[in-house]
Amino acid sequence: MDHRFADRRAVLAAAGGMLLLGGPMGDRAWAAPVFADHPFALGVAAGDPWPDGFVIWTRLAPRPLEPHGGMPALAVVVRWEVAEDPRFARIVRSGEALARPELAHSVHVEVSGLRPQRPYWYRFRIPGGEVSSAGTARTAPGAAETPARLRLASAGCQHFQAGHYTAWRHLSLESDLDAIFHYGDYIYEGGALAQPPTIEDAAGRPLDRRHIGGETYSLDDYRLRYAQYKTDPDLQAAHAAAAFITSFDDHEVDNNWASDFDQDGTPPAVFHLRRAAALQAWYEHMPVRRAQFPVGGGVRMFRRLDYGRMLRMHVLDTRTYRSDQLCERPGQANCRGEDGPQATMLGPVQEAWLGEGLKSGARWNLIAQQVFVMPANRRFADGRFQPGGGDTWNGYPAARRRLVQAISAANLRNVVVATGDAHIHAVGVVPLRDDEPDGPAAATEFLATSISSGGDGAPETEGTRAMLAGSPNIRLVNAQRGYQLFDVAADEWRTDVKVVDTIQRPGGALTTLARFAVSPERPGLDRR
Ligand code: FE
Ligand code: CA
Repeated sequence: MDHRFADRRAVLAAAGGMLLLGGPMGDRAWAAPVFADHPFALGVAAGDPWPDGFVIWTRLAPRPLEPHGGMPALAVVVRWEVAEDPRFARIVRSGEALARPELAHSVHVEVSGLRPQRPYWYRFRIPGGEVSSAGTARTAPGAAETPARLRLASAGCQHFQAGHYTAWRHLSLESDLDAIFHYGDYIYEGGALAQPPTIEDAAGRPLDRRHIGGETYSLDDYRLRYAQYKTDPDLQAAHAAAAFITSFDDHEVDNNWASDFDQDGTPPAVFHLRRAAALQAWYEHMPVRRAQFPVGGGVRMFRRLDYGRMLRMHVLDTRTYRSDQLCERPGQANCRGEDGPQATMLGPVQEAWLGEGLKSGARWNLIAQQVFVMPANRRFADGRFQPGGGDTWNGYPAARRRLVQAISAANLRNVVVATGDAHIHAVGVVPLRDDEPDGPAAATEFLATSISSGGDGAPETEGTRAMLAGSPNIRLVNAQRGYQLFDVAADEWRTDVKVVDTIQRPGGALTTLARFAVSPERPGLDRR
């Protein structure tokens, strides 16, 4: 993407924002709506906190699994309220928004005019009718402030067919969350599994969590997939508990996609149509700002969030602008023969944007993204060596060197990377040099395991042992389900690695597997 195109996209995105807000509200709206069922069945969400507000989201879908969520092709006026207290006695902001059929009757309100660093509660209502459940979110600290502490969570990879969202339920009960970073794989695109894993309900009977329908291609397919996922009460509880800062990885579109390419050799112009449908559905279901309104078949997902002077969060898009993966097997479609200086993970525009953004002077820099940055090689007990996966930064060594250079050029010792995708917990460091994995570090990396993808898993597997043996830069690997908690203070970053013992039966127990501390003066890990 060149700069001219970037500018044009920004103008179109701004125009899209005006269209969302402008126009006489009631003119084309359903006058006295009557719904087949409760219209707020998919819950509520908040996202992308700034010091003066955040986004609040809902989608009207009285019959979530029916065509169009059970909604007629009519716009509906939705009232929204933001209060300083959970009982809504002190409502400080309110207004009306239009739930439009073009956007699957989703509603995104960018609430502003709020006070920094304090909790608010929000809800939606149909004028004269139904009321949604309430959610809560915290505004960010003011630009000049250094809060005593921040608490963030990192989670993602929530394959619906793999088990209960027990980890989301536990995360929804964590206290004092400032925000939850979702590293992606919010949905999975595949069809219903022919042989799903064994999942039980509370009475011990088999529970059917198979996907509805086949692989997702059309906008309606993706909308239905999001609706099915969002019917889950544990996921709804997590959204209601804190603002999400959402990104996307591959499965929101298709496994291992890269820019305009899938892995099947589909012509780019054809794949582009699928990607456009998928990313429109992503926008419709995520609590993101107007800057993320889909334009020209894409979404500008990379963005920054500042938490006063304490933390700058750089949310990266490692899918839209990357070069193709390196060829890993004979006959693989759409791949790159060898790495070279032209190969990119972020694309030139995002790469320059990140380099500039790292110069802020924030106490901590959090690079919030999707795939392994640090070397993650495996050495198996039989001596077999398997280099790190080609869909991660391990397959883009030139791009990784430029990332490390950008950190060095800004003279930063305070960079933490949050990662997902691998369906394991992996805690380690990004070395300054690829060929010195146990040498000096450029950044500390916390890769959070999946919420459900992969099923129950195990603390230790052949794969986790091989990764520890093959990667001297990695300190902990675990193949259970869970999430990570980041407690950020001026003099110390603390990460709690959380695991649940089962997701294939309900009621799995949560434990803290390990606790690591990081100093803002030096990348590296101190196990507590
Ligand atoms: Fe995943
Ligand atoms: Ca992934």
